[in-house]
Amino acid sequence: MIDLSLSERAMPFSRRNFLAGTSYFGAAYALARLIPTPVLAASLAADARVAQAPLVDKGFAAVRKIGEGLYATISDGSKGAQTMCNGGFLAGKDGALLLEGYASTTGAAFQMEALRMVSQVPVRAALNTHYHFDHSLGNAFYGGRNIPLWGHAQTASRIAGSYLPLQGADRAAVLAPLEKRVKDAKSEAERQHAQGDVNTMGTVFDLLQNAVLAVPNHPLDPAKLPLTVDLGGVRAVLESFPGHSGTDIIVRVPEQDVVYAGDLLFHGMYPVCFDEKATVSGWRATLKIFASYGKDTLFVPGHGQICGQEGIQQLRDVFDDIAEQAEKLYKAGVPVEEAAHRYAPPEKFKNLGIFAWGFTIGPAIIKLYEEWQGKKA
Ligand SMILES: [Zn+2]
Repeated sequence: MIDLSLSERAMPFSRRNFLAGTSYFGAAYALARLIPTPVLAASLAADARVAQAPLVDKGFAAVRKIGEGLYATISDGSKGAQTMCNGGFLAGKDGALLLEGYASTTGAAFQMEALRMVSQVPVRAALNTHYHFDHSLGNAFYGGRNIPLWGHAQTASRIAGSYLPLQGADRAAVLAPLEKRVKDAKSEAERQHAQGDVNTMGTVFDLLQNAVLAVPNHPLDPAKLPLTVDLGGVRAVLESFPGHSGTDIIVRVPEQDVVYAGDLLFHGMYPVCFDEKATVSGWRATLKIFASYGKDTLFVPGHGQICGQEGIQQLRDVFDDIAEQAEKLYKAGVPVEEAAHRYAPPEKFKNLGIFAWGFTIGPAIIKLYEEWQGKKA
């Protein structure tokens, strides 16, 4: 599991620099290449709401119409890391709402250009669905255009607390504790997992060095949600749910049965659970609510291709499978640090992407153990 606590960062320097010399987007590309975005499912290509062809396709992301005034921006990390996550925009008669700050200002600018291809209405706001770097590092783009930036009340402090210290840090020192885990690995699986974590952390570090951090100036108090935003013929409902980051906000368009789920939905890949505020039980409860939405609900996941309810079902099945395997280990008395590496993806999930073990499956198992041990609710 990635731990960026001060004590870890203060560990002795390592002179090794795995990604030295790789360019900003190059390093991220090497990482994201592992998870290519599949084409639109046939069932969705036949959905009248979903345009057959994208409005614009830059490779690293494509924007597609998915409803009246509704557009989804779907990233393909195999072609570049300018955006890295999915988002989209909603455009009514009176205003537009842009989703996500993406991994760079280039990504945010791309989406803004796509909006201007279809609408000239003023932008009401841009929203970070949560604080994570791939959704927020391009926020400065909005700041430079006086576009109000919305986010969960904790998003600004989580961006500052998580990423500012890394901008002043020494790369080798940040990676040293993770590299130590590669060296100390007790099995080949553990070594591979640890190496993946080093690569991922290095990529995040490099992305951060190239970003001017900007944070939401319009905090959304979760106690005051849902918030309905009338854009003129397009009504967006903002809601907060637990699970992925403690700062997650989704955008629903009830009249059109469309949900922009942010990272509460990973489609075609294992969920990223590393966040200190991530909760497996909370996330599974959130997915149960998503499953209760209409059967024709169209979901824009935070990562992966657009999907219907089958995407929710798959992620619920993934959580069930992780929990089932972890529970056996727990009951057999296998210590958590060993159990975190012993999950084996079953045949039916063998095509699911794994962003990095220490960001996804490892922490999911650790959090399940904590729940069973009563350490967390
Ligand atoms: Zn995230």
